[in-house]
Amino acid sequence: MTDFPIPTHPSWLVLDNTKLSDYKRCHRLAFFRHFAGIKRAGNTEHDLQFGIWWHDIMEAILLGGEAALPDVMRHIKAEWEAAYGSFDADDPETYKRFKNKTLDRLASAALMYISTYRNDSFHPLKTELSNSIALDREGKYVIYFRLDSVVEEPDKRITVLEHKTTSLSLDANWQAQFTLRSQILTYLFAVGCCFTDSRIRGVLINGVSFQKTAITFDRILIKRSPIAMQCWLDGILQDFEELHRDLERLSHDNVDAPTMQAFRMNDGACLDFCRLCQYHTCCTSWGNPLPRLQDVEDYPPDGFEAKWWDPTKA
Ligand code: SF4
Repeated sequence: MTDFPIPTHPSWLVLDNTKLSDYKRCHRLAFFRHFAGIKRAGNTEHDLQFGIWWHDIMEAILLGGEAALPDVMRHIKAEWEAAYGSFDADDPETYKRFKNKTLDRLASAALMYISTYRNDSFHPLKTELSNSIALDREGKYVIYFRLDSVVEEPDKRITVLEHKTTSLSLDANWQAQFTLRSQILTYLFAVGCCFTDSRIRGVLINGVSFQKTAITFDRILIKRSPIAMQCWLDGILQDFEELHRDLERLSHDNVDAPTMQAFRMNDGACLDFCRLCQYHTCCTSWGNPLPRLQDVEDYPPDGFEAKWWDPTKA
């Protein structure tokens, strides 16, 4: 790699849809999070962890049915206690802190899921499959991905089963968001490279909603036409090109300059998801963030810790 004004990290060019989605949201945010490698210290990221536990449950049920549930719940309880201390379902503070995503609700949801989908007849081919695929003929742009599960239906068709948790209702908006989502189209592209079109059923979004008053489930099947896939491919290749151009700009940026040219800010994303961006103070106080990011592993900026996302190590 060329010389850069901050230390490079092996994960820089390991690109997946998480990084690209952050990059599309705000180039500067992606720079802080994935290139400088800083994130707010002490963020428990409970939603993320809760989603991981739900994935553990889904994998256990898919591979072992209801009989696998006690083991996976024991393992999750141990992880919960290691992260948050002992769980007390009678303590109202627990529900204030974790809102709808508590350990007892996770266990209830698992039993409800088994009952709701007792007629499932999937044969699992792969679970938690990590891989990468080239998007262009030259192999310059490679995307990494992780499929929750690939299953074979009784009619031998192939379905990607993608588990999603939310605190919102599984309404039409929730459903619609997946049709154009690059992560989902990457999965379709990947299975399209391994199986003939006639064998691919699509990506089945396997949704669960943890709302205050109810736990609900829904599934929607995503299929895309060849033209729709080409639209996605055109767009994602442009994202890759743009990101590589930003890295080129970064290589010409200088710690002594008053501003940093690479990875421009997007002021329209500062309040996304109704939450002030964790890098807001960085953007408001540093014209050039480079002097603050010279040795983040040992000396992260105040209030931040060093952490890089590497999809090959998830
Ligand atoms: S505060 Fe705004 S401009 Fe700065 S990184 Fe966050 S979203 Fe981008």
